[in-house]
Amino acid sequence: MSDEHSYSHSYVYTMAYIERQKQLDPDGWRERRRLATQRWREKNREKQAAHNAISRALASGKIERPEHCERCGEECRPEAHHEDYEKRLEVVWLCRHCHARTTDWAPRSERMRKEAA
Ligand SMILES: [Zn+2]
Repeated sequence: MSDEHSYSHSYVYTMAYIERQKQLDPDGWRERRRLATQRWREKNREKQAAHNAISRALASGKIERPEHCERCGEECRPEAHHEDYEKRLEVVWLCRHCHARTTDWAPRSERMRKEAA
């Protein structure tokens, strides 16, 4: 259970760090928060545009949805997963299970855990 330990440790550490930054540099903190929100919005726009591109490409027959997951091979109606939202028509077709394990936050939180360990 060392993972759980390092996770809670990194969480506590992060919260303490945030509190310290707020006190030391309130303006800088607000600015960084603003930029982070802006980046999130831009990323979401890209994501939406990429999904729309896939819908259109499927509707027009430009691309075809396979009948199985490209990762585990399970027969299903897979979902389009973008590795890079700028490459709108480059997707990996994943079942719900595999897709859920490939969300944006997963690799980052994994990295945070490793760095905190
Ligand atoms: Zn799968």
